[in-house]
Amino acid sequence: MTGTQPITRPSERTGVGAEAFALMERLFPLCRSLTGAGVRATLDILAETLELRRTEIPSGTPIFDWRVPDEWNIGDAYIARNDGTRVVDLQESSLHVVSYSEPVRARMPLALLRPRLHALPEQPDLVPYRTSYYERTWGFCLSQRRLDQLEESEEYEVVIDATLGPGHLTYGEVLLPGERTDEVLISTYICHPSLANDNLSGIAVAAMVARELAQRRRRLSYRILFAPGTIGPLAWLHENRAALGRIRHGLTVSCIGDPGPLTYKRSRRATSEIDLATALALRDGGAAHRIVDWEPWGGDERQFCSPGFNLPVGCLMRTPHGAFPGYHTSADSLERISPDALAEAVEICLATFDILETDGRYRNLSPYGEPQLGRRGLYRSAGGAVHTPRDERALLWVLNLSDGRTSLREIASRAGLPYTVIHRAAGRLARAELLAAAGPPWTETGRPLDVA
Ligand code: ZN
Repeated sequence: MTGTQPITRPSERTGVGAEAFALMERLFPLCRSLTGAGVRATLDILAETLELRRTEIPSGTPIFDWRVPDEWNIGDAYIARNDGTRVVDLQESSLHVVSYSEPVRARMPLALLRPRLHALPEQPDLVPYRTSYYERTWGFCLSQRRLDQLEESEEYEVVIDATLGPGHLTYGEVLLPGERTDEVLISTYICHPSLANDNLSGIAVAAMVARELAQRRRRLSYRILFAPGTIGPLAWLHENRAALGRIRHGLTVSCIGDPGPLTYKRSRRATSEIDLATALALRDGGAAHRIVDWEPWGGDERQFCSPGFNLPVGCLMRTPHGAFPGYHTSADSLERISPDALAEAVEICLATFDILETDGRYRNLSPYGEPQLGRRGLYRSAGGAVHTPRDERALLWVLNLSDGRTSLREIASRAGLPYTVIHRAAGRLARAELLAAAGPPWTETGRPLDVA
């Protein structure tokens, strides 16, 4: 019965996961690197749906212990036989050239070329991903199988039509102002060429989160940063170093489209609001997930959480970089990406931000014994039922723990009830005048609780 099932390609589905996947398909062929036209073309596509502000920082600019590198741009790159047939061709995949290769135009025998060729003998069908950002060199990446087809006796035409010289480092950011200037930072890297999970998945999820947040009423402000890895966040931190106090919560998003369980890596602070809110959103989401401790290894969270900044920035991913099959090879392709995984990641981000947006501390105004909820229409009037619906249990939890110090997020964690249920219960109790705002953020704004 093969061939009778209609096949729905991921890009033909609807919903946020399908849109994220479609964005990945458009971005996939671009030859991104730390700098240059591939990065700008990526930001151009993101700017079609997001209000993206672009920053260009000149090569050579000192950035803490670093310096903005020269800008790299590539037109064409290939290795051709005598008859002109290309045996390695950038047009086929942007992985084929070592990123930041110097320009070269030469003819050479395989013996001279061989040290410049990178393959994976253990995985002979895959093309590796290689960069040389800070050491001047050039090279090609190809499958071992294709390398084995090259002949010692032949002289090859080798062309890398690249420019490497003073230019700019480019990053883009979307600022979504809220009622408060306190910001949530969402950051992802945009320097990898044709690799899907690492990190087009992060770009797509961050873009969808930005789009959804743009349509919401926001108490907090949000900043979504699309920057080349390591040097990009460093440049952004350097540019914004006088105003980093406004960053109250942050998430880096990367490697998040594979079928692995969602993984949250805590910030260096370990128990900041973002750490606890993300853990709660993951628990409430109900899907398999893992929470791992901070370590100074991984992605751009390393810069945000370096000791001089120590920002409350965690990392949301699936299988961590380096640990999923095909990592940094041509096997990190769109076929391994699940639109549902992308959609779930967007939902978890938004659920986390909902907690940060609406959490508060309250005081029970009737703490001497349980107040009579039935009289206020908050509880079933008939007694004796064995089963207590969770909305009613939530009322009791909120009343019992609202001592002016314990937040709704803490109550939800302790009660084992979804945050949304606890939040709704607090709203009902506030309307019945059994609960009063007692602490940040509500006393600061004076705004009553929104009742769902
Ligand atoms: Zn990578």
